[in-house]
This record gives sequence, structure tokens and C-alpha cells, in this order.
Amino acid sequence: MQDYDILVAGAGASGMCAAIAAAREGKRVLLVEKGGMLGGSNTQSLVCPLMGFHAGGRQAVRGLAQEIVDRLARRGGTLGHIPDPLGVTATITPIEPEILKQVYFEMLREEKNITLLLHTLITGAAVEQGRLAQVEAAHKGGKALFRAGVMIDATGDGDLAALAGVPCVFGREKDGLAQPMTLVIKIGGVEYPKIRAAMAARPDQFVLRKGALEDSYVAVSGYFEAVEQARSRGELTLPRDRVLLFQGVREGEAILNMSRVVMKRSTDAWELTQAETEGRAQADEILSFLKKNIEGFENACLMETGAMIGVRESRHIQGRYTLTERDVVSGAEFEDAVALCAFPIDIHDPQGKDLHWTKTDTAQCCEVPYRVMVPESVGNLLVTGRCVSATHEAAASVRITPTAMALGEAAGIAAALAPSGRVDRVDAAALRERIAQRGGVPGKKYM
Ligand SMILES: Cc1cc2nc3c(=O)[nH]c(=O)nc-3n(C[C@H](O)[C@H](O)[C@H](O)COP(=O)(O)OP(=O)(O)OC[C@H]3O[C@@H](n4cnc5c(N)ncnc54)[C@H](O)[C@@H]3O)c2cc1C
Repeated sequence: MQDYDILVAGAGASGMCAAIAAAREGKRVLLVEKGGMLGGSNTQSLVCPLMGFHAGGRQAVRGLAQEIVDRLARRGGTLGHIPDPLGVTATITPIEPEILKQVYFEMLREEKNITLLLHTLITGAAVEQGRLAQVEAAHKGGKALFRAGVMIDATGDGDLAALAGVPCVFGREKDGLAQPMTLVIKIGGVEYPKIRAAMAARPDQFVLRKGALEDSYVAVSGYFEAVEQARSRGELTLPRDRVLLFQGVREGEAILNMSRVVMKRSTDAWELTQAETEGRAQADEILSFLKKNIEGFENACLMETGAMIGVRESRHIQGRYTLTERDVVSGAEFEDAVALCAFPIDIHDPQGKDLHWTKTDTAQCCEVPYRVMVPESVGNLLVTGRCVSATHEAAASVRITPTAMALGEAAGIAAALAPSGRVDRVDAAALRERIAQRGGVPGKKYM
């Protein structure tokens, strides 16, 4: 049994920011991660670019998220914030996942208040008198028990909250289906001049921001006809209507976000195994389709696949406030706002091949209230990252990495401020001020 001030479950984008923020407030933090690396989906599943740092010309996410980008830049691991070629959001931030892994370990080496425990899965929770009294975990050495004044669930899947009995909704409210999973593929040997030429010749085949072809960076959402024809020939069997890729940080590289595994639950190991297996078969199919059919990919080669399939959606906790589609679309504001979300609703069809972007103005953003991280029933538990309290539609916006980072930072500071560990008694105004002092953007007036 080991005691800490704050326990953070999961070292993804949100958990990393939560742990670092709490440690910088002087708290002793235990960070427990089931894998062997830091960064969650951005590193283990190669998910990038980061999207949603800006609303129009104004920066909506700063603080630790920007510090991470600055550290990446110093190592040549990002192209910085650049206009989104697809015009879906104001800016995108291409990053190199391998360098992000190094940045996160570098940051933890500097944080003397954080104890890191890798290769350890949170497996149990004991709730006593409305408080999470103890957390159980499993690793190669056996079972471990931990206590902390405040626990932060940053597992993406809401594992700790579910174990503690917090009510959760899985995927869509109407049928429990979640957005599809994607095995992200990194390829090399891509000839971008040929792709640009195809875009210039057939702009109707691509989603492109006006003027994007003059930029030096390329992103592809298109080749609709080629994909449809390959599907009708039986060369492509995955449920996908387009090629979706982003130029990498290094010459000739691309991150392909094209595979699609539908109707599988990431919280069930059997289904997750099927998803991994299907995702890898799709990776082979995609690469041979591109090499055979699309100019610019003739010499493409497989460089890396995610160590784990990317999970877009699973559980959403039911918190003291549930963010809705209307909040996102209307750019809602809240008295207890702690972060901003500057990304449209981006739903990859849970059953089929479509992609729905609910276009909000790229200059617009919505505030995210503290209450989406606060469960009703457990007094010393906060939940951050993609499993916060949001409907399927709102989660399709708020799940984006920079906002997950901003929420994590807010959760870490809130855990440090919570009187006697009572997260429901955190003074929202004081929390907002502290986030702003730390360089974050807790609401629109701080942009
Ligand atoms: C295919 C795909 C494409 C996407 N595209 C983009 C994009 O282009 N731009 C963008 O900004 N965002 C994108 N996203 C969204 C974004 O990547 C994530 O929603 C966000 O980064 C989530 O961060 P998180 O910290 O909440 O969760 P995660 O990154 O999932 O981190 C959770 C961490 O918890 C650990 N963990 C889980 N369970 C346990 C447990 N029981 N015990 C201990 N540790 C545990 C995991 O190993 C992981 O490290 C995409 C997501 C996917 C899957």
C-alpha cells in the first residue's frame, strides 16, 4: 500500500498534463500507465497532427500544451501551428510521435514530485462513504494497492470511473455504438508534387481550403472516385470513402488515417483483439491500393504502424454537466469554464464509410466547464481527456488532443486546490485564475 497526494491513471496527453500540473502545484503525484511509453494515442497509436490550438487568429489552447509544442520544436519534432489545408479547423500542428515520446520522458525527468509506474493496469477501486479510498492495479510483480487524496482518471476509456461505479454511457446514446477505431500507418517515399498536381487537376475530388494549394504543406481528404472504383473492384474492402492523410514532419513521409474498424468495443479485450487484427489487414490493403492506383505513392513504403489501434470513443462518464452538440455549435460559455475547444464535430460513422464534419466557423470555439470532469457520486475523483461527460456528438469535438491536454492541466490544478480532496468544492473562479497564471486559457476572455 502506497500513499500519494494525487494519483493519475493513464499517461496519455491528458494524464501527462494532469500529473505535471499537479506536481507543479507542489503535490506528490503517482502516475500509473498500462503501457511502456508516455503520450497515449499520440505516441502508441501515432495519432497526429494535433488539431484545435486556434480559433481563427486567436490561440485557444496554451499552457502545458503549448510548452509541449515548444519542446517538440526545439528537437525538430513539429512544423508548428500551420493553417489547416482542409479548412476544417483554423490550424493544425504536425508532430513526430517518436520525438513526442522523448519530450514526455524529458518532462518527467524534470518533475521531481512525480513517481512514474509503467506497465501497470488499474484494475479495481474501493469506494467508501462516497470517496475513492483505494485503487488496485496489476503488474508483472503481482497486485498493487494505492491511496491518494484525489484520483484523476485519464485512461481515455474511463476505466477508473467505471470501476468506482460512476455511471457511464458507451458511445452513442441511441444504440451504444462508438466511433470506429483506426490503425494509423506511417509511410515514406511519398512524392508530394504528384499529389499536388492531382489536386490542381481535379479539385472536385478533394476537401480543400481555398488557397491551400499555395501552401507548402499537404493534407489529403479525397480521391473519392479512385476509392469508390477500388471498392467496386473488391480491392478495397474497408468501410471508407476517401484517402485521409497528413504530410509528416520529415521529407516524403505521411501519416495515413484511413483504416476503419467498426462496431468493436475498446473495453472488451476480445473485441479489441479483433480490431487490431482487422486494422493490420486493412493496412496491407490500403498500401497496395495506394501503390497501384494513386500517382505519388508508387514508391511508398511502410515505415511504422501504431503499437495499438487508435480508439476514438468508448465510455463517457455522466458528470455534473454533460456537454452537448448545441454547446459546441453555439460556442457556449460557462461560469466554471476551464478550457476551450476549437474543433468542429467530427464523426466517423460508427457503422459505415461516411465522415461528418459539422462545420462550425473555424474562428469559433466553445468553453468546456469544470463540471464535465466531476462525477456526481465520488467526492475525490476527477475524470479528464476523451471520456469526460459529453454526448456522442459533443465528444466528437472535445476529444481533440489540445483540448484533452488543457482539460488535463485543469484537472491537475483542481486536484491540488480541492479542499480536503473534495473536487466538488473547488472554487471555480480561483481555479480559472490559477490556470491563467500558469499560462493556460480557461475561457474566451483569456484568449
Ligand atoms: C484514429 C484517431 C485519429 C485522431 N485524430 C486526431 C487528430 O488528427 N488530431 C487531434 O488532435 N486528435 C485526434 N484524435 C483524438 C485524440 O488523439 C485523443 O482523443 C486524445 O489525444 C485523447 O487523449 P487522452 O489522454 O484522453 O487519452 P489517451 O491518449 O487514450 O490516453 C490514455 C492513456 O491511459 C492509458 N490507460 C488506459 N487504460 C488504463 C488503465 N486501466 N490503467 C492504466 N493506464 C491506462 C493508456 O495506455 C493511455 O496511455 C484522434 C484519435 C484517434 C483514435
